[in-house]
Amino acid sequence: MRVEDINYMIKETDFMQQNCQEIWAKCMEMIKENVQPETYDTWFKPIIPIKLENKEITLQIPSHFYYEVLEEKYVHLISKTLKFYIGPDAKLIYTVQMEKDGNNSSSINIPSTKGEIKTQNPSIPMPSSNNRIMNPFIIPGLQKLTIQSQLNPNYTFENFIEGECNQLARSAGIGLATKPGKSAFNPLFIYGNVALGKTHLAHAIGNEVKKLHPNKVVLYVPCEKFLSQFVDSVKSNQINEFINFYQLIDVLIVDDIQLLIGKEKTQEAFFTIFNHLHQNEKQLILTSDVAPKDLKGIEERLLSRFKWGLSADLQVPDQETRIAILKSKMKNEGVEMPDDIIEYVAMHINTNVRDLEGSLIGILAQSSFNKKEIDIELAKSVIKNFIVNNHRELSIDSITATVADYFKLKPEQLKEKSRKREIVQARQIAMYFAKESTKSSLKTIGLYFGGRDHSTVIHAITTVNDLCDTDKHFKGYVEDLRKKFHNNYLA
Ligand code: ADP
Ligand code: MG
Repeated sequence: MRVEDINYMIKETDFMQQNCQEIWAKCMEMIKENVQPETYDTWFKPIIPIKLENKEITLQIPSHFYYEVLEEKYVHLISKTLKFYIGPDAKLIYTVQMEKDGNNSSSINIPSTKGEIKTQNPSIPMPSSNNRIMNPFIIPGLQKLTIQSQLNPNYTFENFIEGECNQLARSAGIGLATKPGKSAFNPLFIYGNVALGKTHLAHAIGNEVKKLHPNKVVLYVPCEKFLSQFVDSVKSNQINEFINFYQLIDVLIVDDIQLLIGKEKTQEAFFTIFNHLHQNEKQLILTSDVAPKDLKGIEERLLSRFKWGLSADLQVPDQETRIAILKSKMKNEGVEMPDDIIEYVAMHINTNVRDLEGSLIGILAQSSFNKKEIDIELAKSVIKNFIVNNHRELSIDSITATVADYFKLKPEQLKEKSRKREIVQARQIAMYFAKESTKSSLKTIGLYFGGRDHSTVIHAITTVNDLCDTDKHFKGYVEDLRKKFHNNYLA
């Protein structure tokens, strides 16, 4: 019988009072007809039926990994089979054989895609017996276990232009997206200077995995956020919950992993997460501004793991790729520009992709403000200013001056100890832009703003990110300011 035929018969099937072994034997026959022989031998033969009570069947499976595979790939088949033989309200409980120490009776309930299947005793190897799971991405009170990927849908492979500068990283990303966790690229470690496309590529891989494997749990997390979630979990005495949460992910992307430098406790937590995911063939994707060997201040055992898979760097795009990137951005914006101007921009802006985008926007803006045709003279003047001002503007001083002015404060006020709300807010935004737009370290930024600690800067950045997500007005301020910085480059 094919599984498709089963659906309509379910309603007619009464619950049959037979013993558990017999019923499961029948289920196995039906399953055997619907899967490949190897699949049957590998994933179904080792299952041992334990008991059947009140239409709830308990199946013993060899490991937590079985649970994941069965839930991910075969849950519909199992569910339909059980409903057929037990009745429409059949329930399934998996029990996992625990290791020797195991009179551990902790349990988590993960609703299956169909909602009626529960699991018991998954052997997540945790240091404590407390296997509760906390999702740090949701607001307390709304505890449900749907994990939003936090991916930016605008960062895809389609708009990530290929060049020699990114060939290895890009093709490794495309490759691993077809079989996340099961390729040689685990972890995939992407590194390179600022604004060369690490974040874009990391999201693109995540989006591609989602497209190819909609059931996989993908999570993108900026390392800053990971750090602050860890700090929160320490404060609320929920480190294990924090680790448990991350161990549920199928494809974990951590952006800017260099921020773990000097954070020993967070590194320890990440080490546990990394090991669990890697052992269970889950995919890790990490980005960093330097190669693993240059990550001084990260524990050796983590560094050696970073090198297990593939490290691929992103370089400054060559002229040809820069032209392709400009053309692609213009197509997205629905604008046109003569080829000689595109070439001129590509020739002169050879720092990174964000500068390339910035100069393009500058030319378009100048042309529309002044109602001038885009010609080579206009491009020249914008690029001249862009190069000069780009360097002049990208200082903490000028950022502070612009932010203070915007909030009608004096720059000095942002460096004072004041805890007044509007000053704190302006200071946090200035710190945020200082990190985003200058090469200054967190430490330098902290010192600049009145001798504060680097963790204050991290906190500021996280707060700004969070508020941008939740507070429209606040987001407006940040966007206004970002525009101001752009326009100033080009004034
Ligand atoms: P990083 O994380 O390395 O600092 P980002 O991923 O934030 O860099 O990239 C900066 C900007 O450049 C983003 O707007 C991104 O879309 C763009 N970008 C980078 N590389 C490419 C590329 N190969 N094709 C298209 N856009 C790119
Ligand atoms: Mg980035």
